[in-house]
Amino acid sequence: MKVPFLDLKAPYLELKEELDAAYQRVMESGWYILGQEVEAFEEEFAVYCETKYCVGVGNGLESLHLILRAMEIGAGDEVIVPANTYIATWLAVSYSGALPVPVEPDINTYNIDPSKIEAAITSKTKAIIAVHLYGQPADMDCINEIASKHNLKVIEDAAQAHGARYKNRRVGSLGDAAGFSFYPGKNLGAFGDGGAVTTSDANLADKIRLLRNYGSRVKYENEVKGFNSRLDELQAAFLRVKLTKLDEWNERRKQIAIYYLQSLQEVVDLKLPYIPEWADPVWHLFVVSYPQRDKLKRYLNSAEVSTLVHYPIAPHLSDAYAKELGGNEQLNSYPITQMISSQILSLPISPHLHKTEVHRVVEILLKVFKYDII
Ligand SMILES: *Cc1c(COP(=O)(O)O)cnc(C)c1O
Repeated sequence: MKVPFLDLKAPYLELKEELDAAYQRVMESGWYILGQEVEAFEEEFAVYCETKYCVGVGNGLESLHLILRAMEIGAGDEVIVPANTYIATWLAVSYSGALPVPVEPDINTYNIDPSKIEAAITSKTKAIIAVHLYGQPADMDCINEIASKHNLKVIEDAAQAHGARYKNRRVGSLGDAAGFSFYPGKNLGAFGDGGAVTTSDANLADKIRLLRNYGSRVKYENEVKGFNSRLDELQAAFLRVKLTKLDEWNERRKQIAIYYLQSLQEVVDLKLPYIPEWADPVWHLFVVSYPQRDKLKRYLNSAEVSTLVHYPIAPHLSDAYAKELGGNEQLNSYPITQMISSQILSLPISPHLHKTEVHRVVEILLKVFKYDII
């Protein structure tokens, strides 16, 4: 039996009728940019995230970039970012003109380690970006406490965590503003690119509305040098349909995660995800860790179980950043991040994975470790 990592067509097939109707509604409206669908989605997603405002933008990277711009963070400023994240978090900071300053993760949660943040703060630091990696909320109370002590802004990168809760509060509502991505594979995914900012700060929401649309509130009147980064009307209509399913689909992910956690706990060599008692994660990814990761990945592949690595090259080691950060000197500066990237492996998890497929993944893994196959 072949187990795919992710089937992007399955969500369409489950919601075909509603999505086709949404498509027709937009096509027949004759209005394709910043219309009723975007406005309605923004209201619905703000309610979902327990914030006052939501502003739809072009993609997740732009959501973070526009938040930084709206906060007037740029050249000469520093922004604290997790060393262990998808490179988009860093790129948003670079786009704004500021310098990303990496901080190591906690070895168990893989999220930024709050106890290491203060050592990275300088007189130039303006903000902290916390990433809820793999759908696991970061420790926001600790991060907010440090930020308020040093007068810093707090931005959530919630691109992998739509619907996750921290101490019973939704991610997206836990800092000054949050960026979301609706890339097709995310927990709330569009059928193309899309993104959004959530915030309860009226002034910030207003600035982002300006920035996403050429700096213009009234057509042809440009208050600031803006960008073109709007959530597409068609994608907004699709997202409204999918938002009604988000909690149910996140629950299906959770059931798979619980099954993996229970069935694999006897495999002592395999490190399973750790969930702090205050976290209600949404399992964007199910990430295990094993010292001989590449061997394990190859074996699973030969058994037709697809796995991926999120991410094999840490941002500071990518060609894009290695030079900027000081070349070879930096090579060993983030040992926890590097160890994580050499040992992690993402098992298939998604709302449309069949029970038999999940059982197959477990069956193969148990066999590997029982008979010392690799
Ligand atoms: C997907 C992702 C982004 C970027 O989103 P795009 O819509 O692809 O621009 C940013 N941060 C994290 C953590 C992500 O996973």
